[in-house]
Amino acid sequence: MLTLYNTLAHKKQKFNPISGKQVNMYSCGPTVYSVAHIGNFRAYLAQDILKRALLHEGYIIKHVMNITDVGHLVGDANLGEDKIKLAAEKEHKTARDVANFYTKIFLKDMKLFCIIEPERMPKATDHIPEMLALIQSLDDKQYLYTAETGIYFDTSRLKDYGKLSKMTFAKLSRYLKAGVRVERASGLKNITDFAVWRFRKRESESDMIWDSQWGQGFPGWHIECSAMSLKYLGNTFDIHCGGIDHIPIHHTNEIAQSEAVTGQQFVNYWFHNNFLTVDGMKMAKSLRNIYSLGDLMEKGFKPADVRYMLISGHYRKKLNFTIEALENVSNTVRGIYLFMQRLKEIKGKGDGTREFAKKVSAAQKGFFRAINNDLNVPAALSYMHLLVSEANKRSYVGSLGAKDAKLVAKVMLDFDSILGLGLEEHYLNAQKKIPPEAMRLIDEREAARRSKEFKHADSIRAELKEKFGITIEDTKDGVKWH
Ligand code: AMP
Ligand code: ZN
Repeated sequence: MLTLYNTLAHKKQKFNPISGKQVNMYSCGPTVYSVAHIGNFRAYLAQDILKRALLHEGYIIKHVMNITDVGHLVGDANLGEDKIKLAAEKEHKTARDVANFYTKIFLKDMKLFCIIEPERMPKATDHIPEMLALIQSLDDKQYLYTAETGIYFDTSRLKDYGKLSKMTFAKLSRYLKAGVRVERASGLKNITDFAVWRFRKRESESDMIWDSQWGQGFPGWHIECSAMSLKYLGNTFDIHCGGIDHIPIHHTNEIAQSEAVTGQQFVNYWFHNNFLTVDGMKMAKSLRNIYSLGDLMEKGFKPADVRYMLISGHYRKKLNFTIEALENVSNTVRGIYLFMQRLKEIKGKGDGTREFAKKVSAAQKGFFRAINNDLNVPAALSYMHLLVSEANKRSYVGSLGAKDAKLVAKVMLDFDSILGLGLEEHYLNAQKKIPPEAMRLIDEREAARRSKEFKHADSIRAELKEKFGITIEDTKDGVKWH
């Protein structure tokens, strides 16, 4: 049984979907005005772990992730210009070309990260009629008014506006005022009011402009997510995901519009990840402290290294990014791959099958207990490492039999259904990856090192380097190899 922290309830809750084993889930997708950075991918990876945990529990998932290709202003509230229009001006392209270009890169990175593809990835620009219908419905119910820059939602009409962030109105106002960097929309009745439709600014503006009965313009960012989630997942659905930056504005406003239209609760569980930081500051394009997956691959890292690093912290805690930390992670991942290859090579009978099987089962239970407890990946990983080191210890002294190794491999692959590191490939293709002779030497060197025959260990190390180009390092975290 999965327990999740629900931002709306402000506590952990048992997860109970609306209908049986079916889970309907929505993620606010990327704004495709530049390459998504690994901070953005921390959000999509946290959601991927959530999906994998649900799949492991036997749920069937319908996951919708939108592509924001219009309407997201530089400030998340009512501030500045549309991010994609700005990028188009800078790159001398049309907004559509910019959006298509970065969407392609995003989809490629999703694949490289082994993120399970959502069932649907609707584009905002393909859903303008749905947005206009929602706006019409809000207008009929008199939630809207006209201001200088667009059609606005009157947040004072809702008694429970802001229930997601639990900020008082005064605090929310202070938060919004602090965020004013570019301009303040004029004619607003309340500082929390937001645009559902924005008027075309200049006659010359022709890209990403639509006709509507409120005049030519383009939709507000929040109405996009309401329109697409309600269309594909129904008036009330199970889980809505995003980073914590979206709690006070974007998600609060999605709730306001959707519940004003349907009169029903919009979402049962709100799932929010904390930030990936650099030197304690949120990783963000505006702060110029971003890395993309492509940047890190150019430095020689593998997508699985970055994936491991991004999932290794608890999703509700901040995670600080450094290249040194990623280097360590990269070694850890390689160590796990090597371990999987070694498991395939083990042929002996071994003598610890029954007692060892108990340990394996305890590690497996511990791992999934941690995952089901609000996706505690760091705790789950420590169970996995315990199993790896126990099995390694036995293999070095020759007490890990082929049957034991098979059992460990099975459990490791079960862990990997959550972790998504591609362990199966390394297990199945063991012989192709590292020659058996090299494997034997690695084991022999480890055994020599353990029995303090350092000279012998060093000569094997040299042999590995010379014959196979494999470098062995002894670090405080154990043996690493490249
Ligand atoms: P955006 O394209 O700005 O809408 O962001 C896409 C997703 O990434 C949203 O769920 C954001 O909350 C999330 N996000 C943005 N920056 C970070 C960060 N530094 N760490 C974690 N999540 C982030
Ligand atoms: Zn959204």
